[in-house]
Amino acid sequence: MQMDKHMQLLSKKVANNERLTKEDGLYLYECNDLISIGKLARDVKQKKTGRNVFFNVNRHINLTNICVSKCEFCAFGKDKDEEGAYLMSVEEAFNFGAEVVENGITEFHVVSAMHPDMPFNYYVDVIKRLHQAYPNIHMQAFTAVEIHHFSKITGLSIRDVLLQLKDAGLGSIPGGGAEIFNDDIRKQICPKKAMSNDWLEVHKTAHELGIKSNCTMLFGHIESFEDRINHLIKLRELQDEAPGFQSFIPLPFLPDNTGLTHIKRTTAIDDVKTIAISRLMLDNIEHVKAFWVMLSVPIAQLCLEFGADDIDGTVHEERIMHAAGATTDKGISKDNIIRLIKEAGYLPTERDTLYNVLRTY
Ligand code: SF4
Repeated sequence: MQMDKHMQLLSKKVANNERLTKEDGLYLYECNDLISIGKLARDVKQKKTGRNVFFNVNRHINLTNICVSKCEFCAFGKDKDEEGAYLMSVEEAFNFGAEVVENGITEFHVVSAMHPDMPFNYYVDVIKRLHQAYPNIHMQAFTAVEIHHFSKITGLSIRDVLLQLKDAGLGSIPGGGAEIFNDDIRKQICPKKAMSNDWLEVHKTAHELGIKSNCTMLFGHIESFEDRINHLIKLRELQDEAPGFQSFIPLPFLPDNTGLTHIKRTTAIDDVKTIAISRLMLDNIEHVKAFWVMLSVPIAQLCLEFGADDIDGTVHEERIMHAAGATTDKGISKDNIIRLIKEAGYLPTERDTLYNVLRTY
């Protein structure tokens, strides 16, 4: 397939490290030349991180699924008295993390729901308990939405919430809760939780305090391509202003058991295209992650040919996406991750949460 004029122009821009515009991003979404899009994104990935494809060995700890928010797209949150509702005590959370420490994990990844009455101290204690016992295991915990919730329940500023968590051992924050930065859409799909500027404010404050973070985008629900490109540009602008995003993770919407079951799961074409377009638009974010739990292992592997350079971690017992019908395993062995990266032709590179290289395979 011959590149059309606009694609040739984009190709030149990418080769010269010129920033792509909103119109460029929209053109890429409308364009069917998937092979050329993939090649451009792959070239950018190659320039940034060579043949490395990163992964880490981590444990997800989802403290509770009891949630006041009731987001339309969520299959995880439950009422207190609903069947399947659970809440881990500090000790249970600790034991859940501790049971896999022997597997060489380098990260605890703690993400939960917005519980109606657990006090902020509970969350601080979970971090403290794990961090004191395992000071060398990085604590990545609490999405911006949870941090915003802590600020609301305590009356503390975002900055003070983050400082207290940092003091307890928090190392970085994950990228969840960004969904899509269009407040009209947020009011339809997640009206009770942090709005776009709240999310951006939490990450900006975290970066200013030296707390690194990741960022995400939930796509494939009721948003338009324009919403997606606007979202990427907002992330790019924040990164210019207050750098601290380590990686971007596009998350396809999984409709099962949610309030939006009439929407069809995104196609593989949309998944790989979104990875590639993210890689091309986000020139100032080093890594783009193909999160295998949501994409499925085969599509995540394919994403490596479309500019992704990270496949996330071993995860161990993920609950949130699986409630929404993720049919992937709840964890994956390190050997399997290494195999699938090698099979795609890349160099499996184990990293810690902050992207220090621990070992290549
Ligand atoms: S997405 Fe998060 S905040 Fe929304 S209902 Fe689910 S657990 Fe609660």
